[in-house]
Amino acid sequence: MQPGTPFVIEVNPRIPRRLSRMTELANNLWYSWDRPTRTLFALLHPGLWDKVNHNPKAFLKRVDEERLTEAAEDHIFLGSYNRVLSAFDTYMSEPLRRDMPLDLNPGDLIAYFCAEFGFHESFPVYSGGLGILAGDHCKSASDLRLPFVAVGLLYRQGYFLQRIDNDGNQIVTYTDSEFEDLPIKPALIEEETEIHVYVELPGRNVEVKVWVARIGHVRLYLLDTYLPANMEEDRYITHQLYGGDKHTRIKQEIVLGIGGVRALEALGLNPTVYHINEGHAAFMMLERIRRKVKKGLSFHAALEATAANTVFTTHTPVPAGHDLFEQEMIWSYFRDCFNDLGVQRDEFMKLGGASHGRDFNMTKLALSGTRHHNGVSRIHGRVSSRILSDMWPQVRPCESPMDFITNGVHVSTFLAKEWQDLFDSMLGYEWRRRQTDVKFWEKVASIPDHHFWAVHQALKSQMLYSVHHHVTQQHLRNHGSDAHLVRMLKFANPLDPNVLTIGFARRFATYKRAALIFENMDWLRSVVKDADRPVLFIFAGKAHPADKPGQELIRRIFDISRWPEFEGKILMVEGYDMGFARRLVAGCDVWLNTPIYPLEASGTSGMKAAMNGVINLSVADGWWEEGYDGSNGWAIKPAPEYFDETRRDQEDSRDLYELLQDQVIPTYYRRHELGFSDEWVSMAKRSIITLLPRFSSARMVMEYVNKFYGRASRQWRHYSENGFAAAQHLASWKARVRQAWSGVNLRRLDDPRNRICFGESTALKVAVDLNGLMHEDVRVEVLIGRASKQGEDSNVQAALMKPDGCAGKECLFSLEFTPGICGKLLYRIRVYPYHESLTHPFEMGLMMWL
Ligand SMILES: *Cc1c(COP(=O)(O)O)cnc(C)c1O
Repeated sequence: MQPGTPFVIEVNPRIPRRLSRMTELANNLWYSWDRPTRTLFALLHPGLWDKVNHNPKAFLKRVDEERLTEAAEDHIFLGSYNRVLSAFDTYMSEPLRRDMPLDLNPGDLIAYFCAEFGFHESFPVYSGGLGILAGDHCKSASDLRLPFVAVGLLYRQGYFLQRIDNDGNQIVTYTDSEFEDLPIKPALIEEETEIHVYVELPGRNVEVKVWVARIGHVRLYLLDTYLPANMEEDRYITHQLYGGDKHTRIKQEIVLGIGGVRALEALGLNPTVYHINEGHAAFMMLERIRRKVKKGLSFHAALEATAANTVFTTHTPVPAGHDLFEQEMIWSYFRDCFNDLGVQRDEFMKLGGASHGRDFNMTKLALSGTRHHNGVSRIHGRVSSRILSDMWPQVRPCESPMDFITNGVHVSTFLAKEWQDLFDSMLGYEWRRRQTDVKFWEKVASIPDHHFWAVHQALKSQMLYSVHHHVTQQHLRNHGSDAHLVRMLKFANPLDPNVLTIGFARRFATYKRAALIFENMDWLRSVVKDADRPVLFIFAGKAHPADKPGQELIRRIFDISRWPEFEGKILMVEGYDMGFARRLVAGCDVWLNTPIYPLEASGTSGMKAAMNGVINLSVADGWWEEGYDGSNGWAIKPAPEYFDETRRDQEDSRDLYELLQDQVIPTYYRRHELGFSDEWVSMAKRSIITLLPRFSSARMVMEYVNKFYGRASRQWRHYSENGFAAAQHLASWKARVRQAWSGVNLRRLDDPRNRICFGESTALKVAVDLNGLMHEDVRVEVLIGRASKQGEDSNVQAALMKPDGCAGKECLFSLEFTPGICGKLLYRIRVYPYHESLTHPFEMGLMMWL
């Protein structure tokens, strides 16, 4: 130890005037997807660039002034600098030529709420897939010039640093972000006054400071409670991403939801559409309801008006994954707010599905307060409508208002530079504009194979360098021997990237079954034992610090990687983050994913791999069930859900081994004199051609606009006109319908015929006891379809029955019915409430069948 107290002083260089706009570049996350911008910084001092974790702002504060002065006089550097600035200015100021119409209305503004955002490794306010998806959503919103703002929390401790020790234990280090180093600034009013808002917690107000980050055209507002005015405990609310206990969690969610709405107001912004990405931000609707109640609306009318322009995306495929709070806890935080809301406690609890002693569920709250909902893949939409079916008790899950929009990833962020350059020269610059044009991408097929392969091999080399670097650091820190290191890296040789390399990198949650490949060790041994056809498996990823089974998986894989027969063939690499992820998804040969069906809501790392020509080998779950077409990768057919866990693991792993042994390995090693396999290159091309245009976040965001945003904004206008007349009317109509519904009954009046000739019609007649409702409050409908083997109807079509007058309590409905097809048909008759202002015909969840 040195004697004395060390004092820290940071010496910042003065930025030469000619390079003054470097600061501007460092303060716009445009750099997170524009590689030439990052290269500009890196070239100044590659060592420092790595040391500051690719953070331009931190870099500019630490780099030697001399280096900057030199660069300011170096015409080569200035050339790159000017090119980057010109691209930046063009992006920021040129209007966009939109090839496809977007369903937006004048004056629209979309506000997007999420608890985490992942743009780049230099800005650690994310933990995994959800955050990166939110980041990609913002980036594409910027690319598409959407009127769009985002709201999140500014964590001092976000993505943690992961190390793996000599026994395979995950060692977690949280470091405090220096806000000075992040690409953020305090949000200001009139360029001078900082914006602070307050949220009420029991017995006190918490002050919240608003920061702003720029993501191209989009602004992300981040909320921070680390302020001297707050008591110690409250300063730590926004301290750590998903840290602390349930109380921390609810306070974070109150700050995000309620503080978020207040921040937007303080900024003078009036969104016409709100989008909550996962349930964490669902409290926002309470604040929005409260404001309307204050203006004189009833609680229910305010709820209708709020829900009508709010979109909710769920990402959780298991009931246990939803955020739950005990009723007493919710009560203690929201007691004071109930008076303002004009609602009784019981009714408030019901919003979160918390009746009969059940906990308050944030997903249910989100569903109660939104009229546009979606899962994140076709399968996940279906699963979500099943597990949330009690929100629409009388509606069949296949017709529930739960829709789906499959996730996508931001192409410029995740497509390696080398591919971008190749596409520039082979497809023309317009590929950037034609990202979602399925037909356009067919052109990839005409890229010469050897050219294509050379790019892949270069990226594989780069990836292996990264792996080398990580493994060496990890090994030497753990006091491993040099000889052992050489054995470990035998197959991960950047100079000879010719070993079939299979990557698996993502969060280590148990449902993702990182260790499925180790289900049958003998089989695995026989798969990897062939000395002429070696296989390298690279694993990377973090387990949540509270997830013991996830950490156990890391330990298990680490342990197996040390068995002599697997040495060098299996690597468990520490330090996964977005930077390492970009390398891995671009540089492996195969991207492996083995989740338990149907728990991978979507999965996105496979999409990143696919667009880089890395071939997916994955369970047909989430996005891959939609993406796989037989020519662009391999799909493991999931074992049926009713098998027990052991049996499913056995079945799925057998499928995996068979694919490896019969398809993947032989195809890769069927190499000719040019050093690659034609079939392999053809599959890699198919992967780009078929998957890049369909799984980009550009496609995803356009789908959100055209399915939800435009509609939500129109509903908002309709509901809010004339002092919220439509919302009030709809709320009282719903109350009336709900009251009457249990007494509604259907009875058939005609004699059913069971055989008619084609072209002939049959008259259907029913009487409906409407229990006080009017005939225009309902729709009576015939559904007709073919009878299929399982007794299910398929190709169902609907026909409305016409009201035929009322007699006493009953109204008559009839239909002259002429089936348009022959064969054995099934038809059913039902009644459900109908109002033209409804957003979804079945949003009330009420229906009666004959
Ligand atoms: C893409 C990505 C993820 C999400 O991967 P999944 O396949 O969806 O699990 C997680 N972490 C990082 C760093 C990523 O880049």
